[in-house]
Amino acid sequence: MNRKRKKAVLLTGIILFLILLFLVEKQEKRQETASMANAFLKEDEGQQEASSERSETADATPENPSGEKENREEKKKGVSSGQKGKIALTFDDGPSPRYTPILLDGLAERNVKATFFVTGENAEKYPDIVRRESEEGHLVGNHTYHHVQLTDTNQEQFREEITMTNEKIREITGKEVNFIRPPYGSWDKRYETELNMFPVLWDVDPLDWCTENVDAVVKNIVTKTKENDIILLHDMYPSSVTAALQAVDILKEQGYEFVTVEEILFD
Ligand SMILES: [Zn+2]
Repeated sequence: MNRKRKKAVLLTGIILFLILLFLVEKQEKRQETASMANAFLKEDEGQQEASSERSETADATPENPSGEKENREEKKKGVSSGQKGKIALTFDDGPSPRYTPILLDGLAERNVKATFFVTGENAEKYPDIVRRESEEGHLVGNHTYHHVQLTDTNQEQFREEITMTNEKIREITGKEVNFIRPPYGSWDKRYETELNMFPVLWDVDPLDWCTENVDAVVKNIVTKTKENDIILLHDMYPSSVTAALQAVDILKEQGYEFVTVEEILFD
């Protein structure tokens, strides 16, 4: 073999080796991509499963564990509103100039009555909304003037907060106020006789104020609510308003009737 030929053989060898190296690497990469895609698909499947679980349980209640399916069956049987009993939606801290009107539209569309525990401060700022609440058949209650919690040291101030708010609401709606939701549930029985005010606490607290997750709030409401329950919500957040209306649709379909707290407590 002469020198030239040797060189050519060596060169061909190197080229072949490089081609081989390139092919091996390509194959490895393809496998890697395939396994990545597989992992991604699996993850996606998992999410889909989780979300279908969510939508299944969204319609389920203790009495109705299978959710939607049973609803449809009940519909066939002809469930009339009120067959499952009365329940009351309550909305605290408002009115909100942005979200309360949307809620009122939604409640009117569904012919549902609710109770609004407004602060005197917000009633003063948005009297038209408070008037609308009252005119559309909702009950307007007291939530103190400045959202004050009753403590051992502020009893006189608390009494003033109540009377100031009662006067404000009466001035706007022309109606006497006899129901109060004491902020944070702190209450002293002596105000009941002294001020003729009846405290309204709650049975179902879906913690709507601390999440923007509408599905979670709806699920919380529909799974926990039973006959004669009072449900605590806040008309200050868009997610609460959306969740409230979705829960109304589900609970109405299950046969519940929505009334004001007055009807729950005194009927
Ligand atoms: Zn409050």
